[in-house]
Amino acid sequence: MILPGKTIGVLGGGQLGRMLAQAATRMGYRVQVFEPQPHCPAGAVAHREVNAAYEDVAALSAFARECDVVTYEFENVPSGPLKQIAELTQLRPHWSVLETAQNRSREKRWLREHGIPHAPFVEVAPGGDLAGAIKSLGFPCVAKTASFGYDGKGQVKVRTEADVMAAQVMFRGLPAVVEQFVPFACEVSAVVARSGDGEIRVFPIAENIHTNHILDFSIVPARVSADVAAQTEALACRIATEIGLVGVMGVECFVKPGGEVLVNELAPRTHNSGHYTMDACATSQFEQQVRAICGLPLGDPTLISPAVMVNILGDAWEGGEPNWGKILAEPSARLHLYGKAEARPGRKMGHFTVLATDAETALAKARELKERL
Ligand code: AMP
Repeated sequence: MILPGKTIGVLGGGQLGRMLAQAATRMGYRVQVFEPQPHCPAGAVAHREVNAAYEDVAALSAFARECDVVTYEFENVPSGPLKQIAELTQLRPHWSVLETAQNRSREKRWLREHGIPHAPFVEVAPGGDLAGAIKSLGFPCVAKTASFGYDGKGQVKVRTEADVMAAQVMFRGLPAVVEQFVPFACEVSAVVARSGDGEIRVFPIAENIHTNHILDFSIVPARVSADVAAQTEALACRIATEIGLVGVMGVECFVKPGGEVLVNELAPRTHNSGHYTMDACATSQFEQQVRAICGLPLGDPTLISPAVMVNILGDAWEGGEPNWGKILAEPSARLHLYGKAEARPGRKMGHFTVLATDAETALAKARELKERL
């Protein structure tokens, strides 16, 4: 057990690292952040921030030696340097989990090999037959880069021959995955935690509404049948166990109109759709991450209140500083800002969560507050 007073290292200094650092410092841990860009959101609330490239093995090794456990909040940390620091300290989750999840080809292959339901897909090697892969799946389908994709970056929907040509230009020389388009009824996600001794807890399933491929609203409880919620929870638990997770993982899923759940993506860290847990659950996903990586007993994930989380993107700054007074004046809303200096369109700057007696009431209030920002 890594007890309070010890040092947690976080690779990546974004908002997930920041909220992890806040939870960890509250619990009495020391936190160090490793992030290439100076003045990062997590560094502002940690005991120490180290700025160096992830490929700088000397800097990364020195960092690892000072930490009792190291975790990652950023999915694109290269797995090579991670393998090296795993020799120096406890790395949780294991580097192999990140290696599987950070590459769509490996991730989809892992799902297939483990019999986890997913959309049919074809892998395309660099310079490979993208058009052939699209043809074999049929229109519409979605072509995605195998690595470094998130929030819909590096993906294109293919509906026509013209789209095939555009995809060929976009993915020239890159490894890609083509998958069948899933005409989903809704998207849901589960945040699951697993400790080293195999204890598992899942947070209540969130229903997610994306706008321009970026998460916009998470609604909890998800407006799905008990069977869909149970399927999603069961899949998340199976994945956490079979992949050997020690930590927290977000599992994103599509729900088909008939109620079948397909897994879309795995993220071996806390997840944007789990931010509602900070205000609405007995334990937050960030405290749960600390507990899981430090070998403490896992916390109670019970939902205390229905909730809706809304992301605040840089777009909200278009007409100047957003009107925070509207959110702050609403007793049922909680505002979280990540301390990012520059507001760019699509950049996640913060979020707010609205609590209510039921999800529909929370959603109506959340939409109203978002409009008035
Ligand atoms: P991803 O980057 O794979 O998480 O995709 C981002 C979003 O694009 C998803 O949350 C979906 O809204 C949409 N999307 C991705 N893949 C598919 C698919 N095969 N079928 C339908 N929608 C998709």
